[in-house]
Amino acid sequence: MSEYKRTETILIVDDNEMNRDLLVGVLDRDEYQAVTAMNGQTALDLVQAHDVDLILLDINMPHMDGYEVCQRLKADERTMDIPVIFISALGETDDIVKGFDVGGGDYITKPFKFREVLARVEGQLMLYRQKRQIEAMMKRERHQHKVLDELRKQFIGSATHDLKNPIFVISGYLDMMERQPTITENERMQGYVNAMRRGVDKMNHLVRDMLDLLQLEHGVVLDKVDYVFSAFVRESVQDMVMRAKEKGLDFSVDVPDDKATIAIDPKRMNRVLDNLVSNAIKYTPEDGSIRVIAYLDEDTAALEVVDTGLGIPNESLATLFDPFQRVETVEHMEQEGSGLGLSIVKAIVEQHEGTITVQSEVGQGSTFRVELPRGLISGISDV
Ligand code: ADP
Repeated sequence: MSEYKRTETILIVDDNEMNRDLLVGVLDRDEYQAVTAMNGQTALDLVQAHDVDLILLDINMPHMDGYEVCQRLKADERTMDIPVIFISALGETDDIVKGFDVGGGDYITKPFKFREVLARVEGQLMLYRQKRQIEAMMKRERHQHKVLDELRKQFIGSATHDLKNPIFVISGYLDMMERQPTITENERMQGYVNAMRRGVDKMNHLVRDMLDLLQLEHGVVLDKVDYVFSAFVRESVQDMVMRAKEKGLDFSVDVPDDKATIAIDPKRMNRVLDNLVSNAIKYTPEDGSIRVIAYLDEDTAALEVVDTGLGIPNESLATLFDPFQRVETVEHMEQEGSGLGLSIVKAIVEQHEGTITVQSEVGQGSTFRVELPRGLISGISDV
């Protein structure tokens, strides 16, 4: 609060000397310092050179009237926030309305009533102080957020780096054990080895996802090529068809029947489809269905993964693409997951300058939609 204890400077702009003196008499007191300008241009020059907290601005002045001064103040980023109180002749309703229109915060009328002048000045200054306090708070919060985000990245970076090596070692020994006849013959031992394998694979995935996300957040250079869109979609979901069928899900792919191309980094985009379809399979109970739909127009390609699964509650939608966010219902949590998949998907889509959206209804299913600019490297559109 201490920064607002300083004396606040009030600029009085009036071509009439008597009015200026009267207002200085009222306002030049402990907490305020009154300065004056006899015309609009002097006032504009003054606010550029000095910190001013409030302006009392006469409407009727020669050369440049109060409205114009106010408009110029509001058009300049450095002065737009300074509150303006117009000085108007009594009963001039049109003056007052126009004053508000051009950005005035309040008005006082002549002849001045001193207590009213003080009350209105204090009212505007209070608003201005609050506004600055809120802005300072928001700035502090943005800074803290940046610091925390940096810490998070550093933490994930060093933790994953330190984990990579031991996972590699355990995985290597597991490979050896899996090839040992004494273990593969012994059912109980085999069970232990299988459990360890599952654990190591899970850790491996998590570490890979965390490193990928960090890399994407720092910005990667995409390895783009022009790719036939329908072929890309078909190839990307190929491996998933079996998994869906095994779970008793109906799986269909609906892609354009042409050779239209799109510029993508196929490895990374494959990850997008893989994650979206894997999720659809994971979060859709038996007997449900999954549809992958793709279409293009002149400039844009769109991809939809539609399922008839668990759906996502409204309150989870806003943070769904943030790292480590999972829907915490019993049914969702029964499925294994880290909550990193969708943040990686979003980062990849955004690196392609595309967008991802989701529509979902609990118990009915979800539709994830990716839109990508075709951004052809060859520059030739074949739609
Ligand atoms: P996870 O590894 O947990 O699946 P994701 O980042 O891929 O992580 O997804 C975040 C959360 O969003 C999931 O935990 C799940 O609760 C929800 N979710 C994602 N896709 C679907 C879907 N198709 N249907 C229902 N819920 C989904």
